Amino acid sequence: MSIQHDVVIIGGGAIGCATAVFLRAAGVPRVCVIEPDPTYAKAATPMATGGCRRLFALPENIRMSQFSIEYYKNFAQHVAVDGYAPDVQWKERGYLFIGGPQHADVLEQNARVQEAEGVKIELLDRAAIAARYPWMRNDDLALGVLSPEDGWLDPNSVLQGFRHKAQATGVTFLRDRAVDLYVRGRRIVEIELASGARVRGDHVVNAAGCWSASIAKLVGVDLPVNPMRRFEHYVELAHELPADMPLIKDPDRLIIRPEGKGYAVGLVKSDEPRGFNFEVEPSWFQDVVWPACAARVKAFEELKLVREWAGLYDECELDGNMILGHCEGGPENFLVACGFSGHGLMHAPAVGRGLAELVVRGRFESIELTRMGYQRVIEDNPYRERGIL
Ligand SMILES: Cc1cc2nc3c(=O)[nH]c(=O)nc-3n(C[C@H](O)[C@H](O)[C@H](O)COP(=O)(O)OP(=O)(O)OC[C@H]3O[C@@H](n4cnc5c(N)ncnc54)[C@H](O)[C@@H]3O)c2cc1C
Repeated sequence: MSIQHDVVIIGGGAIGCATAVFLRAAGVPRVCVIEPDPTYAKAATPMATGGCRRLFALPENIRMSQFSIEYYKNFAQHVAVDGYAPDVQWKERGYLFIGGPQHADVLEQNARVQEAEGVKIELLDRAAIAARYPWMRNDDLALGVLSPEDGWLDPNSVLQGFRHKAQATGVTFLRDRAVDLYVRGRRIVEIELASGARVRGDHVVNAAGCWSASIAKLVGVDLPVNPMRRFEHYVELAHELPADMPLIKDPDRLIIRPEGKGYAVGLVKSDEPRGFNFEVEPSWFQDVVWPACAARVKAFEELKLVREWAGLYDECELDGNMILGHCEGGPENFLVACGFSGHGLMHAPAVGRGLAELVVRGRFESIELTRMGYQRVIEDNPYRERGIL
């Protein structure tokens, strides 16, 4: 005998747990999250850098960041239960995108969109960059865009906070793995779990991150989403940089931000072979990331590599953006939330709210997110961010 739920969510990372919280807040009584690993050893969420930015070019991404960042700033109140109010350690020190002459036009065009969306930004020419960040190399730069109200937080506190809130508000968590989905007519009627148990849901949400394409395949839906390894490194310097340093993102996809006594750094390797590979390659830091850091900020010439790890992006191969909502041609009670391509943590609250609206009201209400849907996959019609990511 399988247990009936209103919504079954496959995957209990930031996206699955946030969705569960928003569904309960919207009054959906029976919500179930299937998550095989409550230690989250391989999940993307706890591996993330924690950056949250409004510096996008697509209105949907900007609007999702605006809602989510405000939500995170008050996260403790949103998810507080019985005296438990996790501190996500929000650091509002800004995001700084920098670019050379070849990037200036795109950065400026994006800045116009950001301003039109109400994002507070500052455009900095090379002289302004030199004056404000004298410790950063600037001779190759033409423009910087600073979003001073962006910042970063602790990804694991977000995950635990959402999970705790979901549990406290009556969401059922099954420590199990979805292994098969049974379809009758146009609906998923049952989900088989690795333990042999079965569950049923009026709606089934696929929030399985890097594993979401294999879940979708079970119901004949092809998702262009693959695991893409991404390294993260924590280093300490002999001489610390000013404490108000923002998160810096340069055109080579190098990211540097302060973290505790040191710095979290990473450089996205876009041509990384896809697959479930969690191995750390020390040569990537030695040969690529360290030289890139030292070239940008001289203080990184002398550093101590304290820790490094590999996590996986659920990379959307179509256009680097999420795929959200129902899948045209698939079962009508099947929804997906995946393909976040490195932005899922910062957008989790907006995604959770959007999915709850779809389930309860049948449409996106707070932010129109239809362009992020599966239709564009069917039409092979990418909806890309413009410029550096
Ligand atoms: C190194 C790195 C840096 C990043 N930096 C940032 C950043 O700065 N800002 C940002 O916004 N994002 C960042 N991201 C991306 C972000 O971490 C992800 O987009 C986000 O965490 C995705 O959450 P999720 O819940 O979809 O996936 P996950 O956290 O991976 O959760 C998916 C869950 O599904 C479960 N699952 C798998 N198979 C099944 C099954 N068959 N049945 C049931 N459950 C299953 C897994 O166990 C897993 O816990 C980064 C990612 C990495 C790897």
